[in-house]
Amino acid sequence: MIKTYDCIIVGSGLAGLFTALNLSEKLNVLIISKTEITFSNSTLAQGGIACEYNDNTTLHESHIKDTLKAGSYLNNETAVRFLVDNAFESVKKLISFGVSFDIGADSKFLVTKEGGHSHSRIFHSGGDATGRNVTEALIAYLYQKSNITFLSNTMAIDVIKDNDEAIGITVLEDQNYYPIYSKHIVLATGGIGSVYGSTTNDLNATGDGIGIAYRANALIDHMEFIQFHPTAYYSLKNPSRQRFLITEALRGEGAYLLNIENERFMKKYSPDLMELAPRDIVSQSIFKEMYDTWTDHVYLDTRHLDPKYLEKRFPTIFKHLKEERLILGIDLIPVAPCEHFLCGGINTDIHAKTSVKNLYAVGETANTNVHGANRLASNSLLECLVFAKSFADSINNSSIKSTNIESIELEELPRYNYNYKPIRKKIGDYMDEHVSIVRNTEGLSLTLKVLEDIYKNLIKYPNLTKTYYETLNLATTALLITKQALDRKDSLGCHLRIK
Ligand SMILES: Cc1cc2nc3c(=O)[nH]c(=O)nc-3n(C[C@H](O)[C@H](O)[C@H](O)COP(=O)(O)OP(=O)(O)OC[C@H]3O[C@@H](n4cnc5c(N)ncnc54)[C@H](O)[C@@H]3O)c2cc1C
Repeated sequence: MIKTYDCIIVGSGLAGLFTALNLSEKLNVLIISKTEITFSNSTLAQGGIACEYNDNTTLHESHIKDTLKAGSYLNNETAVRFLVDNAFESVKKLISFGVSFDIGADSKFLVTKEGGHSHSRIFHSGGDATGRNVTEALIAYLYQKSNITFLSNTMAIDVIKDNDEAIGITVLEDQNYYPIYSKHIVLATGGIGSVYGSTTNDLNATGDGIGIAYRANALIDHMEFIQFHPTAYYSLKNPSRQRFLITEALRGEGAYLLNIENERFMKKYSPDLMELAPRDIVSQSIFKEMYDTWTDHVYLDTRHLDPKYLEKRFPTIFKHLKEERLILGIDLIPVAPCEHFLCGGINTDIHAKTSVKNLYAVGETANTNVHGANRLASNSLLECLVFAKSFADSINNSSIKSTNIESIELEELPRYNYNYKPIRKKIGDYMDEHVSIVRNTEGLSLTLKVLEDIYKNLIKYPNLTKTYYETLNLATTALLITKQALDRKDSLGCHLRIK
């Protein structure tokens, strides 16, 4: 029997979940996740969701201006307006599904400030547990819906096309390789962190959506704009590829940055905004300081802040650092930038439509072009919400059911045991060395050549395993980042070219 759904959503992060939540109950919907449904990068989000919630036009406009300024005005202004105009509706919808945002003694929302924002507008939940609280509430609700089916620990492999139209997706569930059909396929596969040697992302973020879309011939842009988070915890004792994030909101609450010579260096780079300059500026400044002081980290200084308040405001971070024998408010915290967010991705319009018929993209894998050359802090959870709803509204209205799809014969693919770890390490090493915060023509050209060879070899020897497809997706993503970084000759936002 062929499996057919009205809508297939690949990914159970905030973008995928919010898409499902907004779809009509008349549609039968499948949510596929490579890992457990309850786990995604969305669950790790600490800072919160950027949103103006009062009727003050000046403040509303300032969210738009801040987003455009952070993105070096490369953003699509229509998409940015759509994002900001729909922000409070989205937050209200989360509240109606049981999410509780932090509220002060005066019963008003406790909003905070982050880098690049001209004033406090970040909603948060459980202090620094926004992502976990939001996704848990949505999953609990969706589990009760009879029109929603979850398929966990299953990897989407490729889009099935009939002529130029997407009609389904192939999946790998354990050893089982099979097609699932639909007239609406939504890629909500999240970030690309594992392309680099170190990242704040979960290491399952292997750029699968980008690889799948590329093989389906979808347009993919702005891949050169990779945001490096300035303050990932730099553990001297427990180094690991996935780095624990220390939210920008901590700097919003007054934390400073010091170099290893105890100098508060941001005054040299952004005397007005200091530690709350946009992320590209702060990461690039830290990079320079680390170079100048011959070290691989700087410090976050919270010693002038009250440890009791910090424990209450940032319980997750406080607990994590305590396990590392560091106390917020007492000890200096070593931090360094690392890969955090993909600003570009699969090109979409504001209803998540890609350049391939019936194929859609939402969340971090999509390039709605709200971020331009650099994302404003806490705009990405908001992007997941606003564009997921916009897609759902457009489908609910079009009332296209997935009927009359002809099944197709799948190509037989070989399977063999092969260790892809050395290839993955090579990709990460080259990306870290040459396609990171600072880039030059020589390094980019060298990396492009290495990646093209890796890619050609992978394509030549297909292998029906999860690790093969993840490695192919990593190579594809790295290749696109490098090619587009080479094509953009000037520095802009988080793409810094020195030659
Ligand atoms: C540590 C951290 C803190 C952050 N803090 C904030 C913050 O405070 N505010 C903010 O706005 N943003 C924050 N971000 C960014 C934000 O969390 C992400 O951009 C956003 O959650 C992405 O959501 P998503 O639904 O697009 O993807 P994700 O949440 O990453 O979900 C992707 C889903 O796709 C699935 N998947 C991937 N590939 C496949 C495949 N081939 N087959 C099947 N399933 C697949 C995964 O299993 C997962 O379920 C943070 C990010 C990190 C890493």
